[in-house]
Amino acid sequence: MADKVIMVGAGLSGAVIGRVLAEAGHAVTVVDTRAHVAGNCHTQRDPDTGVLVHVYGPHIFHTDDTQVWDYVNSFETFLPYRNRVKSTSQGQVFSLPINLHTINQFFGRTMRPDEARAFIAAQADQTITNPQTFEEQALAFVGRDLYEAFFKGYTEKQWGCSPTDLPASVLKRLPVRFNYDDNYFFHKYQGMPQNGYTPMVARILDHPGIDVHLETEFDPDTAKDWDHVFWSGPLDGYFNYKLGRLGYRTLDFEEFRAEGDWQGCAVMNYGDADVPYTRITEHKHFAPWEEHQGSVLYRESARACGEDDIPYYPIRMVAEKALLRDYVDLAASARNVTFVGRLGTYRYLDMDVTIREALDTGAAWLAARAAGHQPPVFSKDPL
Ligand SMILES: Cc1cc2nc3c(=O)[nH]c(=O)nc-3n(C[C@H](O)[C@H](O)[C@H](O)COP(=O)(O)OP(=O)(O)OC[C@H]3O[C@@H](n4cnc5c(N)ncnc54)[C@H](O)[C@@H]3O)c2cc1C
Repeated sequence: MADKVIMVGAGLSGAVIGRVLAEAGHAVTVVDTRAHVAGNCHTQRDPDTGVLVHVYGPHIFHTDDTQVWDYVNSFETFLPYRNRVKSTSQGQVFSLPINLHTINQFFGRTMRPDEARAFIAAQADQTITNPQTFEEQALAFVGRDLYEAFFKGYTEKQWGCSPTDLPASVLKRLPVRFNYDDNYFFHKYQGMPQNGYTPMVARILDHPGIDVHLETEFDPDTAKDWDHVFWSGPLDGYFNYKLGRLGYRTLDFEEFRAEGDWQGCAVMNYGDADVPYTRITEHKHFAPWEEHQGSVLYRESARACGEDDIPYYPIRMVAEKALLRDYVDLAASARNVTFVGRLGTYRYLDMDVTIREALDTGAAWLAARAAGHQPPVFSKDPL
């Protein structure tokens, strides 16, 4: 017999899990408070310029997961795209991530790879043998000059705290390339959906077993009306924040318009602490196969997330992790609900990881149901 299942959230998590269950014959309802599907990946064509705008910030698809790549390509045509980011720092424009071009330009040199490797090793602070903070880790990797130009101000603006207060684990590996490769991502597959993410998600949801209701808020008190609830909203929100609020950073996007090509690239970072924004995004460059005279740009800045703001980046520092543990304990006793996605598990997740976890979560739920077991409460352990 078919179960009556609700997906709270029409983002990638809700859409992909909903599709898996609908294909297995279950009756799936999808609700979202927003007026559109696709969650934070939502793209929308600007009526004045025709530019495809990444409404909640720039989204570039990249993955090593062949099954996920095939999955997205079965719902939308992906066109080749290379993410190449620049940074304006200390009055100059540099190539990111830090590569041989950046190093030679920054230090006014013409070094070859081995010379640059030795040079950076000499710049690095070798007195730091066991880095504890982000700052110590960066100094141990690249030394003070590159740290101050590319990490210090940017990190302060993004996280609203000093890099001396962030754990070393935030900067896991040496953020430098000793060649001229300026492709931001290492993944095997990288591309952009030709018509944006929203038509792709709409197609995932386009199944006779799926019923979508937009501008509809789900109230957790009605969970008992369903055989199962997949919750891709905030974990603490499901419990009406009764233990307190998990900390997030939110983003402000100040939109402005221009004619022609305003900055010559899709993403320009601003590394200096005295520039209030972290980056400027020129949306037309995310679809280089299109031509538009007008341009739409976002000046992006980050701040602490208030109650009425959109939660973007989970903070996951010591205090947040303690509260997260309490919510995970509370969730353990919940029945017939699975917390999924970036908000439901309080983790930053790229789109490909979100889709991979959603496919696995749908399969695990079907297997548990077939075996008569209680399905997992979390798609992935949030801790
Ligand atoms: C600024 C930024 C840039 C990013 N760039 C990239 C990138 O370049 N590449 C990449 O791979 N990933 C990127 N990501 C990650 C990507 O956005 C996520 O992987 C993806 O959005 C996760 O999908 P989701 O369905 O889990 O969550 P969401 O997209 O957040 O969807 C959750 C949905 O649930 C709805 N909802 C919540 N509560 C309720 C309720 N009570 N009732 C009804 N509806 C509710 C919300 O309205 C929302 O639409 C970026 C993220 C951010 C923040």
